[in-house]
Amino acid sequence: GEGGTTDFSIHHGAAERIFQLNGAQVKYEDGRNLGVVLIMSDVTELKNIEKMKSGFVAMASHELRTPLTAIKGFSSTLLDGIDDDIYDKNDQKEFLTIVVGECDRLRRLIDDLLNTSRIEAGESLTPDYTEFPLVEQLDKVLKVQQQATKNHVLKADFGPGLPDTIVGDKDKFDQILTNLMNNAIKYAPGGGDITLHAMVEGDMVKIGIEDQGLGIPKDHLGKVFERFHRVDNDDNRKIYGTGLGLFLVKHLVEDVHLGKIWAESEVGVGSTFWFTVPIQLDIDEAKERNS
Ligand code: ADP
Repeated sequence: GEGGTTDFSIHHGAAERIFQLNGAQVKYEDGRNLGVVLIMSDVTELKNIEKMKSGFVAMASHELRTPLTAIKGFSSTLLDGIDDDIYDKNDQKEFLTIVVGECDRLRRLIDDLLNTSRIEAGESLTPDYTEFPLVEQLDKVLKVQQQATKNHVLKADFGPGLPDTIVGDKDKFDQILTNLMNNAIKYAPGGGDITLHAMVEGDMVKIGIEDQGLGIPKDHLGKVFERFHRVDNDDNRKIYGTGLGLFLVKHLVEDVHLGKIWAESEVGVGSTFWFTVPIQLDIDEAKERNS
């Protein structure tokens, strides 16, 4: 033929780069062969994104289908039992609690998807700034999350001099903590302690969520905040997720609260997700950033 395209990969140690080779035959005006032109492009990143996207679609459809199956199943069961009073009040209560819980889960997933595309489009998640009590908020999240797990022990490690209140978006601050706490529980399937650290650092509050879970390989540490990015190994593959949580959390910390977020981790030992937020957020500056 006159030309063609082919993909091939080159391995260098553990690293793999994927190249696309484009070839075309070049001729003189009179038709004699001059030779071939080969163009080799490094398409590794492109291929990675493609892989991540198809992984995301598989993940998202599982995440959508699982709650739907439960909702359909439990409500059909209740419906079938209505005429003959098959289920007593306790059964009904149990089934409906599951249905409501699964609806919440679906709603969270849909919110995550919508919020991700909003951020992608350069829109902000319209902050609502107020002054709210800090320790009270931290304690509340600890309490709620402890109810969600039996094999983890949630602990507080609050340093001296924490301010009574901070300025920020209370709901979104809650969302940051809840998300990081959820991950700590989810990615420590063997249980262990989860410690919520809080301390003052200059004019910022520094908060850390430390787990004794699977840990994150060094080359993934910066990337877990990118949308759709998930660590892909045998342990992690069994844990479902969309790879959107930390992308949203980073936006809520850095854009909505003008803070910083990063992670420290050692595989097999555990991870700590740290973030800072100003004690006295400059609301004008924050609004400017989010307009
Ligand atoms: P999801 O949990 O839905 O996959 P996230 O954006 O919350 O998405 O997290 C991205 C990835 O970062 C996860 O898939 C996981 O591989 C890794 N990760 C996040 N939190 C932790 C943690 N506490 N311990 C180990 N790995 C984590």
